[in-house]
Amino acid sequence: MKVAVLALQGAFIEHEKIFESLGAETLELRQKKDCFDNFDALVLPGGESTVMGKLLRELDMFDILKKKIEEGIPVFGTCAGLLLLAKNIENDSRRHIALMDITVERNAYGRQLGSFETVSEFKGIGDVPMRFIRAPYIKHTDSDNVEVLSVVDDKIVAAREGNMLVTAFHPELTECNDIHRYFIDMI
Ligand code: GLN
Repeated sequence: MKVAVLALQGAFIEHEKIFESLGAETLELRQKKDCFDNFDALVLPGGESTVMGKLLRELDMFDILKKKIEEGIPVFGTCAGLLLLAKNIENDSRRHIALMDITVERNAYGRQLGSFETVSEFKGIGDVPMRFIRAPYIKHTDSDNVEVLSVVDDKIVAAREGNMLVTAFHPELTECNDIHRYFIDMI
């Protein structure tokens, strides 16, 4: 099994380490030609969604990856990756891959609570540690196809729609790799 990790910016190495520790091969997507390699799943990491969105277009990777997701490749978006996948971003006019029926708010926890950690329940797994860094959250789901997987303080922080899994937090920055296992089960 080969998991491709978008490696333009942000926390991509941490994802690679976890997938490798779980026995998957990884591949870094840095330029257009990397997108033509064979891979079974795709990770859109945390970082800056605006920067990643811009680079994806400038490097001509945007349409290739969007098409793969439309065709059903399993994709895991964390934090900025969630913003890349969201169809609606309430407080930003930019849209990126925009395939998941969710409305999200960017930098939604304000300055005071910019970064925090908690432990909360993830459907089908149980309690997991969650690390939030200038995180978005999902204000509402916009289709019955979206399954809510975790809610923290009345805010949706993880969801799945078919082949797309998103978390507002960073599971790759904790000791727990249960959510990566969950994604491997989707592949
Ligand atoms: N605030 C970032 C954004 O808007 C996301 C932060 C993150 O990925 N940790 O893209």
